Amino acid sequence: MDKIIACHECDLLLELSEVKPGTKLLCPRCGYVITRTGHQALNRLIAFSLSATLFFAYACAFPFLSFNLQGRGQLITLLQSVSELYQQGHPVLSLMVAIFIILAPLLLLVGLLYVLLPLKAGRRNPGSIVVSKLLLAIQPWSMVEVFLIGVLVSLIKIATMASLLLGPSFWAYVAFSIMLTAALTYLDRLQLWHWLDSAKPWRTVQ
Ligand SMILES: [Zn+2]
Repeated sequence: MDKIIACHECDLLLELSEVKPGTKLLCPRCGYVITRTGHQALNRLIAFSLSATLFFAYACAFPFLSFNLQGRGQLITLLQSVSELYQQGHPVLSLMVAIFIILAPLLLLVGLLYVLLPLKAGRRNPGSIVVSKLLLAIQPWSMVEVFLIGVLVSLIKIATMASLLLGPSFWAYVAFSIMLTAALTYLDRLQLWHWLDSAKPWRTVQ
């Protein structure tokens, strides 16, 4: 089962024999983590992805924050923040929020569950290979942690001008970003290909 793979960072060719669960393989030349195989990695990935989905649904459904400016109170949800930013004359910002804060994490979650859930039964969904390639490509583009920092900074700014109340969905989004980040730490390129290799399609032609 030996395979030749190239380091993602420096293209050094490495001969890869089976990696035991719970170990990490580093590139001898540049130190890049070639693979990290966690114990129960698939179970943890699925558990974190499912919890992230629940928190994300909750974050979209309820008020994100409410603020009171000169006696005028306003409640906005996460989705409303996109249209609100657009109406306030920030089309680029509103597009970025829509893509990086809502669409990219959502696609990531749907893709993760589509690929991972059948693997539990030793099967793979049609198109899993394509979806996995997409997942690995957008993995670095989901900026949930960056968004959280941005939100905190703007909240401090708004708090000096208006009284501010964080809605339940704000905390749900915090929980969602922790869960998604946790899930992504278990998403290992090589291990994902290994799982897909050993899984069978749903209908095998005899
Ligand atoms: Zn390297």
